[in-house]
Amino acid sequence: QMTNETLKAELGNAAWKLFHTILARYPDEPTSEQQTHLINYITSFAQVYPCGDCARHFAKLLEKYPPQTKSRKTAAVWGCHVHNKVNEHLKKPDYDCSHILEDYDCGCGEDEVKADK
Ligand code: FAD
Repeated sequence: QMTNETLKAELGNAAWKLFHTILARYPDEPTSEQQTHLINYITSFAQVYPCGDCARHFAKLLEKYPPQTKSRKTAAVWGCHVHNKVNEHLKKPDYDCSHILEDYDCGCGEDEVKADK
């Protein structure tokens, strides 16, 4: 049986991976509907995240730093910054957000090209 701390860290890793990948693949020029979808995803993520303290803390961060959904870049950089706020809270090192789009590739570039056609 893994320790609670290990399980909590694994869940955090997986959750952040999906979170940043979604933001780094979000449209460059989102429609208002796509912006609403992203806001709904982020809000729901904060509400259902299965670690009470984490979810409460994250919901407070969202109030202080509202999600930025105007473009892929602003969304991804915003996500990087809120993760850095959590890092700060946990005394983890600050992450360099300048390459955030390159750092989170979904491996679905081909699909994006097709979807644009
Ligand atoms: P993680 O923070 O899990 O990061 C995974 C990887 O993402 C890192 O190895 C790095 O490559 C990359 N990364 C790091 N920072 C960034 C960034 N700013 N932007 C992009 N990529 C980055 N744990 C608690 O104990 N208490 C809490 O209150 C808490 N709140 C959380 C709230 C949320 C919404 C989530 C998703 C997780 C929370 N966690 C919390 C878990 C915690 O954030 C970590 O996931 C966990 O401690 C494991 O940390 P880690 O060092 O493996 O790296």
